Amino acid sequence: MKKVMLMAIAILFSAATVFAAHTNAAVADTTKKVKPAKVQYTCPMHPEVLSDKPGKCPKCGMTLVKKEPAKKKTDSAKMKM
Ligand SMILES: [Zn+2]
Repeated sequence: MKKVMLMAIAILFSAATVFAAHTNAAVADTTKKVKPAKVQYTCPMHPEVLSDKPGKCPKCGMTLVKKEPAKKKTDSAKMKM
């Protein structure tokens, strides 16, 4: 049984090392990405309408809504490993 315990500890230790390295890389990556967040506004009815400030859609006059960059999902998936 002791062998199994040693194996488990070894696996845990190497996993922790890999995780730490991965986390450091992720942190460095996040730091690199700190650019002024580019918020874009789009029309709910016309996704092709893009504006860098709030306003109204030139096609239908609807108030433009913030377009969230769809990159956050990838980041949370990375965190879960
Ligand atoms: Zn529109």
